[in-house]
Amino acid sequence: MKIRKELLPSEKLKPLFEDATKLEFGKNYTDHMFWMEFNREGGWKNPAIKPYQPLVLEPATMMFHYCQEAFEGQKAYRSPKNEILLFRPIENARRMNRSMTRMCIPEIPEELFLQAECELLKVEKRWIPKQRGTALYIRPVVIATEALLGAVKPSDNYLFFIILSPVGFFFQEGFNPMALWVETMYSRAASGGTGEAKTGGNYAGTIAATQIAKNKGYSQVLWLDAKEHQYVEEVGTNNIFFVIDKKLVTPPLTGTILPGVTRKSVLEMAGDLGILAEERLISIEKLVEGIESGMVTEAFGAGTAAVISPIGKIGYKDEEYVINNNATGYWTKRFYDTLTGIQYGELEDKYGWVYKVRE
Ligand SMILES: *Cc1c(COP(=O)(O)O)cnc(C)c1O
Repeated sequence: MKIRKELLPSEKLKPLFEDATKLEFGKNYTDHMFWMEFNREGGWKNPAIKPYQPLVLEPATMMFHYCQEAFEGQKAYRSPKNEILLFRPIENARRMNRSMTRMCIPEIPEELFLQAECELLKVEKRWIPKQRGTALYIRPVVIATEALLGAVKPSDNYLFFIILSPVGFFFQEGFNPMALWVETMYSRAASGGTGEAKTGGNYAGTIAATQIAKNKGYSQVLWLDAKEHQYVEEVGTNNIFFVIDKKLVTPPLTGTILPGVTRKSVLEMAGDLGILAEERLISIEKLVEGIESGMVTEAFGAGTAAVISPIGKIGYKDEEYVINNNATGYWTKRFYDTLTGIQYGELEDKYGWVYKVRE
């Protein structure tokens, strides 16, 4: 599809960051955004790249009331050869469509999703920072824009947009393990709900529990299943992995867990790195027993924002359990180094995961 370009004159462009490494995650935005609207008669039409701008929406817009929406999270990286690289972007295009289908939003063709990202990145390439560890975060979003309070039903109109945010080092204080609080009252996602879709409502409900964890001195919540509060599911907005008895273990995708691209990549590369990977239920009681007995030797979160985040402490009920002396473990570091090495185009990409944006 032809994407119309309505670009700012050069004197209206924002000044670039001074030190990209210090940019906080998701606080700064580039000069332009991608924009495409849907209506029942015409489908998805008139894709454009426009100046980054406020949205003008009626207070009755369905999105604000019933949260019919979906989003994605990706990064564009600069390779040492100055190429623009994406990591498995087709996986994001597919997941966006799965989330949209769950939310009754009409799909966007995968090729159009990818074309929109590539053309926006080409316009905004000066914003892709060069230092290792920095990136340009990509946030595609789709929202219901019909103004109607009267019915909870699929909207007749939608807006799909993509905004870009340059991001610095995720671990500003170094690759230090985080401490998790196990939440035993609130739940993130219930069976039959929307847990496996990347949709706003899943996150609004987690803020209260995260505040409780923060007040107790923990940085994130370790979520358990909603029914029994017995099985480990996710950590904050990341998937979770453990090294238990020399095996890499993560919970299976049973509908309440977000199917992360990072998670999938860790599982697919584990065998090549020399560790057996297993998807199975992990009970919190067995987990803390395993930490105490020394069977559980490592834990880490996996997601696009931080890629791999080491976990050093788990607070559960009245006890605190320390993993690997609160130090980053061998496999945690291996997965971090290998994945980021592939993402930045430094290591050989034998899986064909890296997508070069053609300039
Ligand atoms: C986005 C997200 C993840 C990680 O997915 P990636 O594709 O690896 O970035 C994990 N859990 C939740 C709840 C998420 O929203």
